[in-house]
Amino acid sequence: TRTHDEEDLPHATKKTMADHLRKYESLFTLTPQRMRMIVEAFTECLELGLSKPNQIVPMIPTWVFGWPTGKETGDYLALDLGGTNLRVCLVTLQGEGKFEITQTKYRLSEEQKQDDGQKLFDFCAECLQTFIESNTGDGPGQLRPNQLLPLGFTFSYPCTQERIDHGELIRWTKGFGAPNTEGRDVADMFKKSLEKYQLPVELTALINDTTGTLIASHYVSPRTKIAVIFGTGCNAAYMERVPDIPKIAHLGIASDAEMAINCEWGAFDSFEHEHLPRTKYDAIVDDTSNKPGEQAFEKLISGRYLGEIFRLVICELIDEGVLFLGQNTYKVEKPYCFDTAFLSLMESDPTDELLMIIGIFTHFFALETTLAERQFFRALAKLVGRRAARLSACGIAAIVNKMGLLEDGCSVGADGSLYNKYPSFAERVHEGLVDIFGDRGRNVVTHHAEDGSGVGSAIIAAMTKARREAGLY
Ligand code: BGC
Ligand code: MG
Repeated sequence: TRTHDEEDLPHATKKTMADHLRKYESLFTLTPQRMRMIVEAFTECLELGLSKPNQIVPMIPTWVFGWPTGKETGDYLALDLGGTNLRVCLVTLQGEGKFEITQTKYRLSEEQKQDDGQKLFDFCAECLQTFIESNTGDGPGQLRPNQLLPLGFTFSYPCTQERIDHGELIRWTKGFGAPNTEGRDVADMFKKSLEKYQLPVELTALINDTTGTLIASHYVSPRTKIAVIFGTGCNAAYMERVPDIPKIAHLGIASDAEMAINCEWGAFDSFEHEHLPRTKYDAIVDDTSNKPGEQAFEKLISGRYLGEIFRLVICELIDEGVLFLGQNTYKVEKPYCFDTAFLSLMESDPTDELLMIIGIFTHFFALETTLAERQFFRALAKLVGRRAARLSACGIAAIVNKMGLLEDGCSVGADGSLYNKYPSFAERVHEGLVDIFGDRGRNVVTHHAEDGSGVGSAIIAAMTKARREAGLY
């Protein structure tokens, strides 16, 4: 009979795994000096995006003018089309930074992400209809029949905006590929779907999740100056002085105004790949994606890709005959089968034997592992996760630099599955900021943000209505 003793399995010995680890350490480690170089290039890209249209990092003016007063009130709908789910929310703003929210999530299928764009928006309208129907009644917190509601549409993909209820999709990200959508006004497309279903809804604002997060975080904690999303995708927004956005100077907007900028920083270093440390695993992720060359920064950081980067290293070691000799490895060889959540689970395994890692490999991939291998997997997860967090710190540092926020310090509202569910992520971002700025880096602190795509979207719809009523843009 076969035993599971380490000696009986034809696996790599502890020594060879440690040797392999050294190689990956040198590939995935970012020195403070390298980070500072990235921050410098990043800061220049932010400036360039503000000065000219159509730059790699597009620095999109959002038409969200300044901060909320905290006095916004009323009922608003928010529709959140993120990377993974579709969510419909009914938000009641109560003023004084208080609100109530009722929401339903609908899972998006892979087919829907690739199917015709208008169909995707029709599906959004259909979910909205179901939601409105099931939340209409005469009870407290319910919608009255045919009550006309303002809606904030959180559409978290790069869109150029000429007004707040307009947005031309620059490109899909996060694996979406719905045809007949890029280059078109998605607000207009969505309005067509609203008409088709005859919904009592007025599309008031099209917003990005980062912009929503910036506003929602500030609504509850006014020290917030920057918002970041580390989820399926990755991006940031912050509040800019209008005179510092040269590319919109011709519009003659009041010079004391401020406007939120959706950076779309996930595109940093796209196509040229001059500044970021790319390994051959990153190059494979990029080449095999539906958008080669694009979202270069995001592909090193976001939750959609980290598990895949880890898996590609594992596959290399399988090919080299180092791992899982004599076992059938087909399950782990399937692209994107290795969830980013596994990295965080592996890192946080509290047992000496690394039982959680045994569980992941046997249960999901039908593979047996030795302790030495499991230690290697855990160390590799750390390398991939740590690099992502340190690169994120570079992005935050670039905005801090650009806005001169280091002396007084600032709070960064952060959201997204990676930030929320990967326990060491925030800590590593903070370490990264200290590596970049020295001790003063401690003045910049991230905190878990308020729900930007729901509550933030509602607040922005409220701000927009108030501006319209005052006869402003
Ligand atoms: C999108 C951004 C979005 C981010 C986080 C990126 O892929 O381009 O618009 O803010 O993901 O959801
Ligand atoms: Mg989201």
